[in-house]
Amino acid sequence: MIDSHTHLFIAGYLALSKMAKAGYNGVIQCAFIPVRPTGSSTFKDLFNWIVYAEEERCGKVGLKSYPAIGIHPRCMPLSEYERCLSTVEEYLGLEKVRALGEVGLEEGSERETRLLVDQLKMAIKLDKPAIIHTPRRNKKEVTRKLVNLLKSVGISEDRVVIDHVNEEVIELIRNEGFFVGLTIQPGKLTVKRAIRIIGELDKERILVNSDVGRDESDPLAIYKLFKRLASRKIVYDNPRKFFNLS
Ligand SMILES: [Zn+2]
Repeated sequence: MIDSHTHLFIAGYLALSKMAKAGYNGVIQCAFIPVRPTGSSTFKDLFNWIVYAEEERCGKVGLKSYPAIGIHPRCMPLSEYERCLSTVEEYLGLEKVRALGEVGLEEGSERETRLLVDQLKMAIKLDKPAIIHTPRRNKKEVTRKLVNLLKSVGISEDRVVIDHVNEEVIELIRNEGFFVGLTIQPGKLTVKRAIRIIGELDKERILVNSDVGRDESDPLAIYKLFKRLASRKIVYDNPRKFFNLS
């Protein structure tokens, strides 16, 4: 099993050891910091933490940590915008870094849109897939905006997962060809609801995740889904293919 969207680096050792014991192969770890960063050095330290320190910590319990690097819309830097972007580009270019993420829109403002477009252009240039956050609030409206933006930037549908999809927006994106990211977490989806949504979709285009990090979540969400659904494709083959994992 591979959890396709986590922030395990800000979860404690208990979550990590639970996942290792349940037989997970690996986790995608997305960049996020719960405060507005003052500048580029914050991102440099954050990315070093995710890329190197987590590789070592997870390795000790036999779990592969695959980093995703990017600036989340809630992590808009307070200064040094251009230098922050250069830092993203520097780390995104590393072979170890498997994706741009987590990026996206929270409110859909001008500033957020610019930040997202600037980063998507990097992903296209460096040929990395992108993990796109959708918000809880105004989900439909912001997701519609996101889909239009992704199309106008010209990133391939094969390289994008639109994450935290629920019943409200599934219609909107199911025919667009992007990967559908389903997050099983309190406040987002239950295993039961995720299975209901999966039933209507092309199995090739689904990624599932727990979003485990600092908020309430279940590190074993994917394991629980797999026990009910028994689809190796969804919990293992799809993330391996999408993130080009070895
Ligand atoms: Zn997340």
